[in-house]
Amino acid sequence: MNRQTETKAVKKALKVLGCENASVKHGTGTSWGWVKIYLDIPHGPGCTCVIHEDAPRETCDECKRLFRETRERIEAAVIKATGRNRYQSEQILVSLGFIE
Ligand SMILES: [Zn+2]
Repeated sequence: MNRQTETKAVKKALKVLGCENASVKHGTGTSWGWVKIYLDIPHGPGCTCVIHEDAPRETCDECKRLFRETRERIEAAVIKATGRNRYQSEQILVSLGFIE
């Protein structure tokens, strides 16, 4: 699957997951084989994250779980949509952030 076709397949799979606001990019140079997905998600409904003015946020357990589950769901959907083999599947970056 060439990069353009793969980008389309990944975007389609993300839309099915309800993540149409994700951005999909391919790596260049030494990260050529990588597909990179950037997505901001809302905090969980029972979120108790602690926001500090000048220190990193303390992410609550619910949001940590949400992060992990979202990443796993996206990875699985991307592998299925692209037919990436085991080696190629290690070159999937799912970079999540929170909508603050
Ligand atoms: Zn939280």
